[in-house]
Amino acid sequence: MTIEELISSIEKESQLLPSAIERGYSGMKKVLASKLKDEGSCDVPHLGMFQKDSEKVKLESTKTKKPAEKPEKDDKPEDKPEKEDIKDQETIDEKSETSYEQLKQEADNSFDKQASLAAIPYLDLSGKNISRDILSYIPEHIAKRFQIVPIEEKNGDLIVSMIDPEDQETIELIKKRTKLPLIVTLCTQDDLNHVIDQYSGINSDVNDLVETSGETLETTEEDVKDEEEEITETSDHAPAAKVVDSLFKRAVREKASDIHIEPMEDEIIVRFRVDGVLRKIVSLPKMLHPAIVSRIKILSNLKIDEQRLPQDGRFQIKLNQNKIDFRISTLPTVNGEKVVARILDKSSGILTLENLGMRGSPYETLKDNINKSHGMILVTGPTGSGKSTTLYAVLDQVKDIATNIITLEDPVEYRMTGINQCQINSEIGYTFASGLRSILRQDPNIVMVGEIRDFDTANIAIHAALTGHVVFSTIHTNNAAGTIPRLIDMDIEPFLICSSVNAIVAQRLCRKICTKCKQEISPDASTKQAVAEEIAKMPKGEQKAIKDQKYFKGKGCTACGDTGYKGRIGIYEVLPVTEKIRLITTRETSADTIQETAIAGGMITMKQDGILKAMDGLTTIEEIWRVTKD
Ligand SMILES: [Zn+2]
Repeated sequence: MTIEELISSIEKESQLLPSAIERGYSGMKKVLASKLKDEGSCDVPHLGMFQKDSEKVKLESTKTKKPAEKPEKDDKPEDKPEKEDIKDQETIDEKSETSYEQLKQEADNSFDKQASLAAIPYLDLSGKNISRDILSYIPEHIAKRFQIVPIEEKNGDLIVSMIDPEDQETIELIKKRTKLPLIVTLCTQDDLNHVIDQYSGINSDVNDLVETSGETLETTEEDVKDEEEEITETSDHAPAAKVVDSLFKRAVREKASDIHIEPMEDEIIVRFRVDGVLRKIVSLPKMLHPAIVSRIKILSNLKIDEQRLPQDGRFQIKLNQNKIDFRISTLPTVNGEKVVARILDKSSGILTLENLGMRGSPYETLKDNINKSHGMILVTGPTGSGKSTTLYAVLDQVKDIATNIITLEDPVEYRMTGINQCQINSEIGYTFASGLRSILRQDPNIVMVGEIRDFDTANIAIHAALTGHVVFSTIHTNNAAGTIPRLIDMDIEPFLICSSVNAIVAQRLCRKICTKCKQEISPDASTKQAVAEEIAKMPKGEQKAIKDQKYFKGKGCTACGDTGYKGRIGIYEVLPVTEKIRLITTRETSADTIQETAIAGGMITMKQDGILKAMDGLTTIEEIWRVTKD
């Protein structure tokens, strides 16, 4: 079938957008042509164009959807836009323009430039909740298909938001349906999805599940074969699947790192860890627990009937073209199995050290050390303090075509190009230690070992560092100075540590103040006192950098879910293993002495780095106290 035939059959079959086609809907042709090229053949059902059987229609993949592809989702005849009426066009525009002025003031700066090009105001919908009444103006399937959502009714006008506000066909269609004058605004795809999700939030899925509880909930091993490993493809008549689907997608969207599904005595509590802090998301009826757990077990290939032992598994989903891994862990509790899913979003690119919050003297010290031709750099901190993210940023900075970089990781959290990444598998004896022995025979320049936690790994890593390799790794200690005694506890000779380790980075992640609701505050006297004491301990140069002591916090807004925080930033201390530190280490191994020597040599501590960041309005003093307390 040629492209022309295909297009004419679409025109005939669906009679979609007749006026658009009359005008020569070149966008659609282009999309079709590129699709055909991509497919390599004219696999019509694959295009989804003519797919009438609704079972196979994907739940959603809104991100890729362009207005020109509208016919793709036409499986419901009532969705078809009506042909007539463009006559009220002028009145809409007139009306809109006056209201635009008010709307513009709310518009976000960066996006606003783009939006104002087309004289369409931009709305920031992040965190905005739309009432059911307003949502009912545009049914969910229309909103999804035409990528337009209702926002608010104001003086008889309906404010709608869309990603392509120049799509007159859609505007006409909505105007006709709602019988209201429209004020069209622009929003981002993420924000649009955020509103679309409010139609069928978890609550409605739960209602479905409660209504149909019984027959359809039975999940069996056979299902696995039919199941694509994508929750976006789950069939409509599996409500437990829908709940899991909603939860997992929402967690990814809210940038959660973990999902906790916790059975209590008479309910299930679902919590997300966002920016390092657990937050309750929803409580579900206890009766849904078996179905939800079974669904997750099926996805991650766990034994459904084993409910007395903990299990681990993983699965991958595709969300908006990104592959996202979930590491699943189940734990039998007295109230049933608790499920925790760790989210590994491999698509969320590598950040630079600057983006992570490295700056000032810690950054200078680290930079001096990562470019050395051999030796070890250790990153330390508790679980979840962003150690591996820092190592990825370091690797990204040092990688080049002349360098062979091999990593040993558990798990591989991000895929990096130009680097050989290996996943260890201790079940078959492929451990950090044995893996390290093998990769040293692979002619590496730089080796990254996920974690040093035993003598074997430490010993081989140190010998690699002594024999001309650069070794990066992480270790569990509270601060940089504590790393040296920790290695000695692992039976490593102090003189070996001194001659192999170049620098030690300790870090924590603290929450960043939400930029949308940030304000200056005046803290209580005790906070000021404690801060002043820390500042007095800083090296003179750092003290001078603080011009005046300002304190900030976020007062809470819709963008940050009323927490006052959004995103995270690292605070660091970088301890260079200098000649002085070497001398001390061979004689005396207490962390305190090493710490004092490092501070005397000009090191600023994590807490001090945090205070500098708080004074700059990046985070709060409370956050610094919280993440640095022992
Ligand atoms: Zn806020």
